[in-house]
Amino acid sequence: MESDYDLIIMGGGCAGLSLAMRLAELGGECPRVAIIERRENYVHDRTWSYWATESAQLTHLAKSDWKKVLVGAADQRVVVDCDKTPYQSIYSDAFYQSALRKISKNKRIDLFLGESAGVVHQKNNLWQINIKNTSVSAPQVIDTRPPKRVSDEAPILWQSFSGVEVKCSQDVFDDRVATLMDFTEVTLGEIRFLYLLPYSPTCALIEATVFGKRAMSPSELAGMLDGLIKKSVGSVAYEITYREHFVIPMGLGDHVPGGDPSYVTVGLESGGARASTGYVFQRIQRWAEGAVSEIKNGKPVPGHVRDSWVIRKMDKLFLRVLERYPERGPEIFVRLFSMRDSGSVIRFMNDEPTLWDSIRVMSVLPYGIFIKELVRGIFR
Ligand SMILES: Cc1cc2nc3c(=O)[nH]c(=O)nc-3n(C[C@H](O)[C@H](O)[C@H](O)COP(=O)(O)OP(=O)(O)OC[C@H]3O[C@@H](n4cnc5c(N)ncnc54)[C@H](O)[C@@H]3O)c2cc1C
Repeated sequence: MESDYDLIIMGGGCAGLSLAMRLAELGGECPRVAIIERRENYVHDRTWSYWATESAQLTHLAKSDWKKVLVGAADQRVVVDCDKTPYQSIYSDAFYQSALRKISKNKRIDLFLGESAGVVHQKNNLWQINIKNTSVSAPQVIDTRPPKRVSDEAPILWQSFSGVEVKCSQDVFDDRVATLMDFTEVTLGEIRFLYLLPYSPTCALIEATVFGKRAMSPSELAGMLDGLIKKSVGSVAYEITYREHFVIPMGLGDHVPGGDPSYVTVGLESGGARASTGYVFQRIQRWAEGAVSEIKNGKPVPGHVRDSWVIRKMDKLFLRVLERYPERGPEIFVRLFSMRDSGSVIRFMNDEPTLWDSIRVMSVLPYGIFIKELVRGIFR
């Protein structure tokens, strides 16, 4: 049977478009691709931040970058110089528009917008998906849709955040320093902090973030966010120009790539997230780049590369410590960012920790707690 396409990408979000835009650059060598995306159009709906390490990609799209980041608890404040690996943010609409421009130039890629991909059938080694007025088929499917979570797959911690972008009537922010974590509030069983990205002296993204045992809704974070806005802008008049809310599961059960290479799941909850910190964007970019190399070599698109056993164990250990001793969270993060060489913690949080980086991070955990959790971890 003839297939309509070589590849079907289900979901044209970060992972789907990251792959498709790179495939589009192959020109006539690009496989025939169908992207099936539920949304009708693309708008600015998130801001992706990451450290611009050597391997970081798409950095030309960054709206802002900061060479200093602040981590602070009640009586301690650490400002980390990261001029070699600045902290950067990309507006999602800049990414979407750049990807769509590239994709539209390659006639071998069709983007089906406003189409919800449902059941997928396999017949004669071809995957077939029915969409509104037609059906598409291909020998390989890349599924980037968020998977249905199974109840016993709860993550160790949830990272819930609600943020607003504010425009102030006068200068308020120091736009040279991004506030990564300012632990202003201690709440039983949770780690709460302010995350603030100052785009200019008058404009910033102000975010209320909670690491906790359950996912929190915008209304549950509203009070905290209001307090942080007031604290950040004082009595200066401001208007809210954008809002965002999301919940990232941290430390899900290990994502084991499926056995069938013709149906690959990727994206945030399918191995795309840095387990212990929830950073996703650059990890997806690296996957997309690797996938294109595989295609050029005549191979199918792979899933995300699994972290090594040791890194997975260390990530879990780190999260278990935060889960069991949230009141020690501020102290742990301040100690981490106080390390003489911040490279290790940046690589650990971003995505690319070496074994040595993870060991250095573990060495900062309070010794007694570390040993207790290590012993518990052996039996889990
Ligand atoms: C507000 C916000 C802020 C974030 N900030 C950061 C950050 O600073 N740094 C970072 O690294 N990560 C961040 N993330 C997390 C992560 O990078 C993003 O969620 C990223 O978009 C995940 O990529 P993805 O491709 O897995 O999912 P998505 O980008 O969500 O793509 C999935 C796509 O599938 C589509 N879809 C779903 N169901 C169907 C269906 N049935 N049929 C067809 N299409 C379907 C969706 O419409 C969507 O376009 C943030 C996320 C959000 C929401």
